[in-house]
Amino acid sequence: MTLEPCDRCEEILQDFLDRTLTNEEWAEAEMHLGDCDYCRRRYRFEETLRRYVKLSAVERMPPGLMAKLEQLRGLDATA
Ligand SMILES: [Zn+2]
Repeated sequence: MTLEPCDRCEEILQDFLDRTLTNEEWAEAEMHLGDCDYCRRRYRFEETLRRYVKLSAVERMPPGLMAKLEQLRGLDATA
């Protein structure tokens, strides 16, 4: 089984994480996450990343760490 990048996911994921969706969009997004492995993986990864960024002050991150995280995020998307 291959995980295809999902256009719908890219469209809603950031809003979903930012909690800026309407109730209707929220329900749709949750339903989609239940159906789509790709989106679920992306969502978990993004949420973990955000929590990590929130916990550790961004300005105290070692140089290059953010770039590394971005790279990981890219790898995850194509895994
Ligand atoms: Zn999807």
